[in-house]
Amino acid sequence: MRQLIAGNWKMHGLSAQLAEIEAIGAARPTNCDILICPPATLIARAVERAKGLVPIGAQDCHAEASGAFTGDVSAEMLVDAGAVAVIVGHSERRQFHAESDAAVAQKARAAWRAGLLTIVCVGETQAERDDGRMLEVVARQIAASLPDGATVQNTTIAYEPVWAIGTGRTPTAAQIAEMHGHIRKLLIDRFATGRTMRILYGGSVKPSNANEILGIADVDGALVGGASLKAADFLAIAAAAAPP
Ligand code: PEP
Repeated sequence: MRQLIAGNWKMHGLSAQLAEIEAIGAARPTNCDILICPPATLIARAVERAKGLVPIGAQDCHAEASGAFTGDVSAEMLVDAGAVAVIVGHSERRQFHAESDAAVAQKARAAWRAGLLTIVCVGETQAERDDGRMLEVVARQIAASLPDGATVQNTTIAYEPVWAIGTGRTPTAAQIAEMHGHIRKLLIDRFATGRTMRILYGGSVKPSNANEILGIADVDGALVGGASLKAADFLAIAAAAAPP
């Protein structure tokens, strides 16, 4: 399976930042699939500047196609802007917008309805890991955030331990392998294509640790926050992806 290196720009990026997408496209990485998820305001222009060389995704969507939801953006609107994928259930959405597993599942269904690849994020907090409850927490998130009907074509999982996001701290290779193996088993038990559904690792991935992380069993790519903002760093991480 080709690894996927996906960039999550979070709430970063004004027009000038679009040059980074052009630079990523110009490098044409071929050893892996790539995706950049800029803020919603840049999606349409990012698609233009990417010239078909960098697939563009979004960071969230509303569950409804349209309606009286001031400030929200629907999956259909993202497709209309040229997006091909959307992240749902990122821990920052779960934490700052109180998104429940059920709300994440509704957003995943909306993304499928619109034809978007859906990257569903799961991951434990530091306290949950300290209590030894990480496997149970992630199992609950996978069970409740992933609707029936998930397939290798419409869904990718991102395991992102909350304590590793933006902190510079990463789990050990053994901890990542344990969790990805756990998620793989949950996917196989529930979905016909669970064996090949991608499981990305996310949380402080950078050029200096990408090689080790992307070499771990059942790590099918990375979801990259801070290090995706500069084309050079993103491309260095992409270069570390295993060749197909
Ligand atoms: C993320 O926001 O999904 C993320 C993994 O962030 P960072 O790479 O900055 O830890």
